[in-house]
Amino acid sequence: MNARADFPFFTSPDAPVYLDNAATTQKPACVLDALRRFYTTTNSNVHRGAHRLSRAATEAHEAARSDVADFLGASSPREVLFTSGCTEGINLVAQTLARAGYVRAGDEVLVSTDAHHSNIVPWQMLCERVGAKVLPIPITPELQFDMSAYLSMLNERTRVVAVPVISNALGLRLPVEEITRAAHDVGALVLVDGAQSIAHEAVDVRQLGCDFFAFSGHKVYAPTGTGALWGREDLLESLPPWKGGGEMIRQVTFARTTYNCLPFKYEAGTPNICGNIMLAEALKYVRNLGLSAIHAHETALMHELCEGLQQLPGVQLLGGSAPRSSLVSIHVPDVHHYDLGTLLDQMDVAVRTGHHCCQPLMHALSITGTTRYSVALYNQSDDIQRALAATRKALRMLR
Ligand code: PMP
Repeated sequence: MNARADFPFFTSPDAPVYLDNAATTQKPACVLDALRRFYTTTNSNVHRGAHRLSRAATEAHEAARSDVADFLGASSPREVLFTSGCTEGINLVAQTLARAGYVRAGDEVLVSTDAHHSNIVPWQMLCERVGAKVLPIPITPELQFDMSAYLSMLNERTRVVAVPVISNALGLRLPVEEITRAAHDVGALVLVDGAQSIAHEAVDVRQLGCDFFAFSGHKVYAPTGTGALWGREDLLESLPPWKGGGEMIRQVTFARTTYNCLPFKYEAGTPNICGNIMLAEALKYVRNLGLSAIHAHETALMHELCEGLQQLPGVQLLGGSAPRSSLVSIHVPDVHHYDLGTLLDQMDVAVRTGHHCCQPLMHALSITGTTRYSVALYNQSDDIQRALAATRKALRMLR
């Protein structure tokens, strides 16, 4: 796969070897073109106007929603709520469940130890409000999801289980389908955080079997400030709205307000119209390349990267030689991750260092952070070789 030419970012002579794709991705020309097209031909507010432009903007916006629904394998566009990103999607679920009284005093919410803060803190806020508890699901010594510990934690008090498909600090995939089945056996709901899987593996929310699936657009070649939350229609239908404002209402009087139908009930205010259209464009781009081709390309790059890193003296791959499709974190006991990242930056290699918004995981591993290399569909073997050479050199300089 050679898709780099689709990304204007890489035409700059100053473009680094970009291996920070788990944090955010570069954008293809078709997505950037969609912005210009929208603002030069269609710009208008949606839903409210009688004029032609408003109808065109509404049609484009709702067509984008259908495209997102198709990408996710949703049964209907009514199940797709546009959000500002994964974080907002998870907060939406936690807060509507709190408002609905679904989680009560004494209940338990299980969250995997390797979850991102955005899949921990909203649950803590919910639990604090109602007197429930967030319990971490442990990881095994190999840093995998501990299935037997999880199964033993499930009980009639478990109301929600929240896990990522792929952990953003370790790059390991969790057995989401099995996790979901077991949670449903005790009557708990499952929220799946797809932030790190959305650009790397095909998703079918019905096959995953979860109740909610959240992701951010900017991790999948769309702009920041975009994303979607998929939820089971019957649940979204029965839960209360969370933000109040225009669009989400059917009728407002000072005595009583009734709410709009799905999905608008959860979308107060003017949506990110152009951003949502760009999100659909990005998903179309990914779909045209094919997620299985992308997966094969990235898996080969990861194999080359992990093999190379493993040969560097003193470098530990978190999670050992477990398969990875998009990212790897390393720990070098005698070198601070920040120093390594800084030297790599000076050699024009962009990686991410730190706790990756996974402080509980770092605590469990007794480290302060890692150096994380993450690939996207536009990376090439040349990037991997340059990153490996720079890492080798940086480690020599730091010792
Ligand atoms: N979950 C995971 C696994 C992530 O990697 C991220 C982003 N680093 C998020 C959630 C939060 O995404 P955002 O900040 O785009 O809302």
